Amino acid sequence: MPDSCLFCRIVRKEIPAKIVAETEDCLAFRDINPQAPVHVLVIPREHVASMSAVKDPALVGKLTRLASELAQREGVAESGYRLVFNTNADAGQTVFHLHLHLLGGRHFAWPPG
Ligand code: 5GP
Ligand code: ZN
Repeated sequence: MPDSCLFCRIVRKEIPAKIVAETEDCLAFRDINPQAPVHVLVIPREHVASMSAVKDPALVGKLTRLASELAQREGVAESGYRLVFNTNADAGQTVFHLHLHLLGGRHFAWPPG
């Protein structure tokens, strides 16, 4: 629920985060447990539980555009980066407020684990 949702609380600045970008609709901050030299989470300000709950496809465009701009700013656009929406249990989603992982600064294996 938005009241207790961790990422809604970060949007409301009730919980500190290393914020790297703020737009009208989105917020981006560093992951607390980074899995790569660059690991940023890009989220909508509005509470949406997961990709399965997205009603407005334009919102996904805003998240991916901001993530690609941040990849440039963080210096990984040329070397390469990965954008991931973990969705529900099999993908290991743990926070049920939509978030796009921007990962970069090292090589990533494929297929993913
Ligand atoms: P998921 O597994 O749901 O795709 O990703 C959730 C991500 O949120 C994880 O990578 C985790 O490290 C990150 N995370 C969890 N709690 C916090 C927090 O309080 N602050 C920040 N900055 N990241 C968090
Ligand atoms: Zn939320």
